[in-house]
Amino acid sequence: MARFQTVTGHCQCGAVHYRVSKPAVKIYHCHCSMCRRCHGANFATYALAPRKALVIEKGARNLSTFASSPGNNRKFCKTCGCQLFIDVASKPHLVWYTPGTANGDPGHPKASERHIYVDSKLAWYGIHDRLPEHVEGTTSPLVARTKRRRPSPSGKRRRAGRVRAR
Ligand SMILES: [Zn+2]
Ligand SMILES: [Zn+2]
Repeated sequence: MARFQTVTGHCQCGAVHYRVSKPAVKIYHCHCSMCRRCHGANFATYALAPRKALVIEKGARNLSTFASSPGNNRKFCKTCGCQLFIDVASKPHLVWYTPGTANGDPGHPKASERHIYVDSKLAWYGIHDRLPEHVEGTTSPLVARTKRRRPSPSGKRRRAGRVRAR
């Protein structure tokens, strides 16, 4: 892998600029309903980076915070609504940032990349890569590859085929 180079990023309107000076530890593509609605997208992609590696270079006061669940503080630009960061109270040493707003490669170990909360995925949307898919969070069971590759016509039957984490 090429040597990591500091990643810079900004929101759509340019009010908020940031820099990440260390490679991401992991990348998640999250299909949960909170991420889908906050981003207005089929899923949201996050890079986890060491907290001290992230510097907000401009516009920190232009960030608004929305706690989508207790301890999950989503930070977005007040002006353009761009989702930039999540602070998770239980993991103060890490920060989640959205690599879709960044220039450059987040530098994560490629094997760390995965889909999460696939059980909440939009039924009409298919995942067409070979990354691991977790039913819920990263410690939850993986979606069985055979089930995933041969979806049954009914969403109900597909759901029933998955191992529930709870
Ligand atoms: Zn903005
Ligand atoms: Zn999510």
